[in-house]
Amino acid sequence: MVSFDTLSAREVRDPRSTPPHVLPIYATSSFSFDTIDQGIEIFNNIESGHAYSRYANPTVDAVADKIAALETHGLGFEATAVMVSSGMSAISTLLFGLLKAGDKVLAQGNLYGGTTQLLVSVLGQFGVETIFCNLRDLDAAETMLRKHPEIRLLYCETPANPTLACVDIAALSELAHRYNAWCAIDNTFPTPYIQQPFAHGVDFIVHSTTKFLNGHGNSIAGVVIGRDRELTRKKVWNAMKLAGTNCSPFEAWLTHNGMKTLALRMERHSSNALAIAQFLEQHPAVARVNYPGLSSHPDHELASRQMRNGFGGMLSFELRGGMEAGLRFMNRSQLCSLAPTLGDVDTLALHPASSSHLHVDKTLREANGITDGLVRLSVGIENPKDLIADIEQAIAL
Ligand SMILES: *Cc1c(COP(=O)(O)O)cnc(C)c1O
Repeated sequence: MVSFDTLSAREVRDPRSTPPHVLPIYATSSFSFDTIDQGIEIFNNIESGHAYSRYANPTVDAVADKIAALETHGLGFEATAVMVSSGMSAISTLLFGLLKAGDKVLAQGNLYGGTTQLLVSVLGQFGVETIFCNLRDLDAAETMLRKHPEIRLLYCETPANPTLACVDIAALSELAHRYNAWCAIDNTFPTPYIQQPFAHGVDFIVHSTTKFLNGHGNSIAGVVIGRDRELTRKKVWNAMKLAGTNCSPFEAWLTHNGMKTLALRMERHSSNALAIAQFLEQHPAVARVNYPGLSSHPDHELASRQMRNGFGGMLSFELRGGMEAGLRFMNRSQLCSLAPTLGDVDTLALHPASSSHLHVDKTLREANGITDGLVRLSVGIENPKDLIADIEQAIAL
């Protein structure tokens, strides 16, 4: 018999005899081996077992596999997903895994702000230069690819902040491949329910699962999904493991809990956003509405080709009253929370000119469509009548 203090320090054995119905949280840093031979086997072929939770964890792996299955659903092939600690972690792990000094990245100017900063101020320090160009202009993109054979990665986002401008995923993937580059996309806004970029030829997909995939605003996590399973394992999983950008099992578990209702939520996010966009479009106080589901959106046709089951929950609109009207909307709205995130079940409002873009030069900001009166909404799943009534009173003069 071991002593009391030894007994109290010892790990318990999992006593269950039947498997749990719901995915458990494996809050364990390591896994124990029955014999040293088993340990050696697992270390030699890490895929067949677990050794240490930075490399792989059963809860995290189960959720990553589910996201890979959603991104490839109906496409007839399997992809490999690596879950990481945040959306930015997904992007940085992908970039660090794929690129080396001297390589270049071709990207659009209207990326998620953090991504632009990461490319310029961090990747730049390692000798990876990013060329920004309007990726809606395929001739301009091709000119850049021809001029810079060092471009190894074409990185895009569609629909993108804040005007929900879209890029042609199939055309860009084809272009990238023709010039010996990979094509990666941030699919956070639409989620695979609305848009499956693998169907249009991309090599890598990244998500901030913090947003619509979780949907409840209670975890921060991200994921990279790669079409080439071997390459993804060799480059992305390896970078995750060595940079230590692994996802915590608790965050993965919360993500999975939210993801179970993804289809239901995206249906409602989309139908609510369309109803609000249509309401705003006919309102005299509104100068412009940006929603790819409206036929007035400049990319409506392209969006209809590459999106399905609706057009997602993100929209923006410009109030004629400028800064004053924008700030008034934010203070008057009762149902739109002023929180700097998106994709939650409740409606969230952002006034970029007074928040995310407060320190951006006004001319530069306006050139990117971020005017003083622009408001961005992440439309929630509330009753659309309540949302429209609230928005109506908040924009009334
Ligand atoms: C939020 C967001 C990110 C960053 O994700 P985090 O989980 O906050 O690190 C990246 N891309 C898009 C489009 C986002 O909305």
